[in-house]
Amino acid sequence: MQMAAHGARIMTVQGEIDAAELGFTLPHEHVLVDFGGAQTASADRYDREEVIRTMRPYVEQIAAAGVTGFVDCTPMYLARDPHVLRSLSEQTGMHFITNTGQYKEPYLPDETFRITAQALAGQWIREWEEGIEGTDVRPGFIKTAVEPRPLAPMQQKVVTAAAIASRATGLTIGTHACAGIAALHVLRLLSAHGVDPAKWIFIHAHMETDFDLIRMVAREGSWIELDGIGAANDASVLSMLLKLLDAGFVGQVLLSHDAGWYSVGEPKGGTPRPYTHLTDVFLPLMRELGIDEQTIHRVTVENPARAFAIG
Ligand SMILES: [Zn+2]
Repeated sequence: MQMAAHGARIMTVQGEIDAAELGFTLPHEHVLVDFGGAQTASADRYDREEVIRTMRPYVEQIAAAGVTGFVDCTPMYLARDPHVLRSLSEQTGMHFITNTGQYKEPYLPDETFRITAQALAGQWIREWEEGIEGTDVRPGFIKTAVEPRPLAPMQQKVVTAAAIASRATGLTIGTHACAGIAALHVLRLLSAHGVDPAKWIFIHAHMETDFDLIRMVAREGSWIELDGIGAANDASVLSMLLKLLDAGFVGQVLLSHDAGWYSVGEPKGGTPRPYTHLTDVFLPLMRELGIDEQTIHRVTVENPARAFAIG
């Protein structure tokens, strides 16, 4: 696997940049999340300025540690907020990437149950073409979610919509899958709709305990995202990382925390988890285990630039 091809582009909340500008990137984090459900989800449930005030120090903390790219994985109906992300990007200089797509029940609106995959994809393609919720902020990838088992019909529809939207826009798809069986089912469905497995991210892959299944997904060419850093046990994530590197998948690994966030509904947003475990603890552990700087650069800089490159 190579670096992002020359001229590869990334869509940030402040517009398109060259993939080479993205730099050290956390491919799966959250600024704010509202777990209230699709029926009540609304920006009226929080104060944007309070969210920005609360989360800005956490972003500045990683900026000081050398992080320059932040992929915000909060989907629509869970408080994806282009205004908050753009303000934070302007205030901190961080490259934020947001998404289109939909999560799983109970974070799907009634309409999603009624319309076809094609119509659903049409909504997401419109966000890519016109911007999100009346802003000119455009999505940089497609986020979906499934349960950790073979896919229910509703989830097959959402994944099919993601395939249609990805082919129309060139955006990469990331799916909260957690389990190898679910990942393989998603991949099968995407492939049937002509999506290259290299355009798909297996989110929460570290939660799969059967490495044979992870290897089966990696062999297809997909991204294996170990995004429980700081929450999961360091030794277990490290052992999975070492197995992936040993099996030759250095060009397909992504590392992140799935941390943050301002929690809508809790006083003052609750207690966000910082985004610093990777730089402060995990990378030093990788170095102690003999993982060289070139490998660390590939995993933290080159891989995210390729994973989220458009086209
Ligand atoms: Zn997440």
